[in-house]
Amino acid sequence: MTDSARWRVAIIGSGPSGFYAAQELLKQSSWDLDVDLFERLLTPYGLVRGGVAPDHQKIKSVTRIFDRVAQQPGFRFFGNVEFGKDLTREDFLAHYDAILYTVGSSTDRHLNIPGEELSGSHSATEFVAWYNGHPDFRERAFGLQGKSAIVIGVGNVAVDVARILSHDPEFLATTDIAAHALQALRDSTIEDVYLIGRRGPVQAAFTPTEVRELSELTQVDVIVRPEDLELDEGSQQELDAAGRQTAQNLDLLREMSQRTPSGRPKRLHFLFCASPVELHGDDGKVRSMKLVRNRLEWSNGRTRAVATGETFELPANLVFRAVGYRGEPLPGVAFDERSGTIPHEKGKVLNPEGDGREYVAGWIKRGPSGVVGTNKPCAVESAQTMLRTFLDEQRRPLGAPDVTELLSARSIRYVSYDDWKRLDEHEVQTGQALGRPRLKLTDPQEMLKILENA
Ligand code: NAP
Repeated sequence: MTDSARWRVAIIGSGPSGFYAAQELLKQSSWDLDVDLFERLLTPYGLVRGGVAPDHQKIKSVTRIFDRVAQQPGFRFFGNVEFGKDLTREDFLAHYDAILYTVGSSTDRHLNIPGEELSGSHSATEFVAWYNGHPDFRERAFGLQGKSAIVIGVGNVAVDVARILSHDPEFLATTDIAAHALQALRDSTIEDVYLIGRRGPVQAAFTPTEVRELSELTQVDVIVRPEDLELDEGSQQELDAAGRQTAQNLDLLREMSQRTPSGRPKRLHFLFCASPVELHGDDGKVRSMKLVRNRLEWSNGRTRAVATGETFELPANLVFRAVGYRGEPLPGVAFDERSGTIPHEKGKVLNPEGDGREYVAGWIKRGPSGVVGTNKPCAVESAQTMLRTFLDEQRRPLGAPDVTELLSARSIRYVSYDDWKRLDEHEVQTGQALGRPRLKLTDPQEMLKILENA
């Protein structure tokens, strides 16, 4: 086969699902197939770099698998290339046999309550991106000078935020947390962090490993109200029918509820069956939150939180909503506003105006749920659907010109995988000199300068 007869696939977004899809496509020995992985940032790995908490280094070791994928013949990385800006959907369709979107869920959901716009009220996604050194958030400031922070939601992102706010900063100094965040957390005066679930402990979305970590924080008394763990009949039935993780969550919460606070410098309070109603502020800055107590009701197989009318107020200098990520539409690509995902059938994008050459995987396909590994079967399904469609529709490779010609014509300075490995080496070297796994580069201009001088 000549070069022009090779299949070319563009993957948009270099998080876990992008790499897992590339792995699946490149392992097909019967296909002459090349994969180009495009990324808006100069650095790869999506939420593994920008989302996974800095004290969860072990989870980040999955990048070794991605490195191996990147070493395979037929793989190229194009960082610093934004879909819809540097290259449009039409450009990709003209240069590739298929496009696979793996862009994740980049924004957050809102509470839609009065006062949400006050200064000091943020989405957890912004805070997570900031402490992980995401370039778009490096200039953000979070007022950590108050005493009390409220985190709404009891998923693992909420737990991450509560843990980072409560950790001993000297422990965080041994991780790859962004330097600006480490300094701000060293200067933080936050003493009380509230984690608030609208439903009960049985319905909480967090997982036992993450709850256990909270109970092991050295500077923190974890406070769980025993009355919050008294289960009504419905919750007890739900617990009996639930898996091991829910039972472990309850065991851990029960153990924590029996502890006597020992006067540690910080306190982490769990509150269940409460919803935010309104944020109150002074001079545009959040001061407190009004909440309502909920009771639980069962309908259509789901436990719902129903407001009781009984309200209470908590002090709040900072509020983080950690109520789920949300996908954003890509220019020209089909999108379902309701679910914040790209509609698909087994990974093939459902677009009546398209010609069947677009695919989707990861959170933008199935919504923001699951751990890093959950993306593997999801990406495999989409990659296999793509190859099956090539066969079923008896397609031939387009044999279009190489995309590098277009990138050069548009003077786009893309970052190759070798470039990234140079940045990676720089981060590791500067970090290790400080006793840290790496010192993250957060400024794209600085990254480009390092590459020019390499
Ligand atoms: P999540 O697991 O879906 O949790 C969202 C939380 O927000 C739930 O407690 C939900 O309560 C609550 N919520 C939603 N709307 C609300 C509202 N209007 N008012 C009050 N509470 C509301 O989402 P996530 O925490 O963003 O995590 C996303 C995925 O990433 C999850 O699969 C998670 O496990 C994963 N993740 C894993 C790790 C880890 O492994 N360490 C770390 C971070 C994230 P309801 O249940 O009542 O809707």
